[in-house]
Amino acid sequence: MSDATNVEADYEALLSFLYVAPVGLLEIDPSGAISMMNPLGAQLLLPVAGAGGISNLFDALGSHAPDLRNFVSSFAGERGTICEARRIHIRSLDSAEPQILACSLIKIDNQRIMGVLNDVTAQVLQERRLQQAESWFSIMLSGVNDFALLSLNANGRVQSWNKSGERLTGHSARDIQGHTLNVLYPPAEAIQGRALQQIDFARRDGWHIDEGWRKRKDGTRFWCQSLVSALEEQTGEVSGYSVVLRDVTEQKTSGDEIRRLLTTDKLTGVMNRAHFFELAEAEIVRCQRFGSTLSALMVDIDHFKQVNDTFGHAGGDEVLRQLGQHFRTTLRSIDLVGRLGGEEFAVLLPSIDVEGAKLLAELFRGGASAIRASVDGSPVGFTVSIGCAQLGAETRTIDELLKAADGALYEAKRTGRNRVVAHGGAEGPERQRVA
Ligand code: GH3
Ligand code: MG
Ligand code: MG
Repeated sequence: MSDATNVEADYEALLSFLYVAPVGLLEIDPSGAISMMNPLGAQLLLPVAGAGGISNLFDALGSHAPDLRNFVSSFAGERGTICEARRIHIRSLDSAEPQILACSLIKIDNQRIMGVLNDVTAQVLQERRLQQAESWFSIMLSGVNDFALLSLNANGRVQSWNKSGERLTGHSARDIQGHTLNVLYPPAEAIQGRALQQIDFARRDGWHIDEGWRKRKDGTRFWCQSLVSALEEQTGEVSGYSVVLRDVTEQKTSGDEIRRLLTTDKLTGVMNRAHFFELAEAEIVRCQRFGSTLSALMVDIDHFKQVNDTFGHAGGDEVLRQLGQHFRTTLRSIDLVGRLGGEEFAVLLPSIDVEGAKLLAELFRGGASAIRASVDGSPVGFTVSIGCAQLGAETRTIDELLKAADGALYEAKRTGRNRVVAHGGAEGPERQRVA
């Protein structure tokens, strides 16, 4: 192939490239005169140019970008970028939105300047919509007090953090960006990786809601509802997570408070009668189902009337309060204690038979006799009598069980008080009857 054919082939290739290029390409001289232009360049300039036509770029764009000419004449360099993607707004009478061209000019040498024109109307519109959505969003966020909205990357690390997050947690974006939400967990739970666990659930199920204590930067804690949703790409891959955190401490504490008021005896802090029976019945069903052991105690203060008579009702109340405290310190967390009325209490002891219950009751009785309630500065002692019984063939319901324990309690009272008696035990009337 000859050199001439080579050049011709190159020229053809260049022309077809210019023809299909998705941007307007043109070559001008320093006065703006167009020496070469591809079809898209012409297509972009024609509707814009006035009567002057499109032989000179500066004239064609004159009424929309009068400063282009100055850019070029004041550019001092030998070559290089004169302007890059300079936006030119083309307003026309028949359209409310302007068409927007981006114009780049690159000086090649003293005589030649390369121009690139691009219609960016749709892109700018999209950008503007995004900006608007973002500003609406941020107005919304700055208006809410107990929400924080944030996003995490695919590894569960904080990507975007805004004012709402700062207000809720006290952490600034700088504190928290790039960290996992473990930062917000109280230390014991953070070690267990609870934050990442929630991310795993959200990745698996699409979203996950969790509730628990979180801590602010200043160390104070808040009861937080957190909703994590996975952001899925079209490919099904999770590209990140959006998170809503909500401070619901008030609802939580008022809910807890209502629950406490409904279930607890105010004076002694043990369960009230209704709550005790509710839990006790469930515990008995559970024990019968699994064939496990269960015992009950009935506890009654001895000569309590005398305590009231001697130290007044307030003195009696203080003794009751001390007894409530004694239950809390002596019994296990799984034991159930209820105030059935006055100075009478019932206790359920899971996994303990009547012998064990008797030993425990003996310890409790001894401990109670050593307590000194302070009434008007004077120490006031008291004693308790206790009856014990075990869940069995004749004591199948909570009523039957407590009745058996109450029978033993009556026996303890009858035989001198400050004593423990087991139902069916050697000193119990039932045993005597059986024997
Ligand atoms: P016993 O040894 O036989 O049990 O004699 P007791 O005096 O303890 O028995 P009793 O059941 O006759 O008396 C209980 C007293 O407890 C009567 C009641 O005034 C008093 N009481 C009941 N509830 C309260 C309370 O909430 N506070 C005070 N201070 N006293 C109460
Ligand atoms: Mg009593
Ligand atoms: Mg009584």
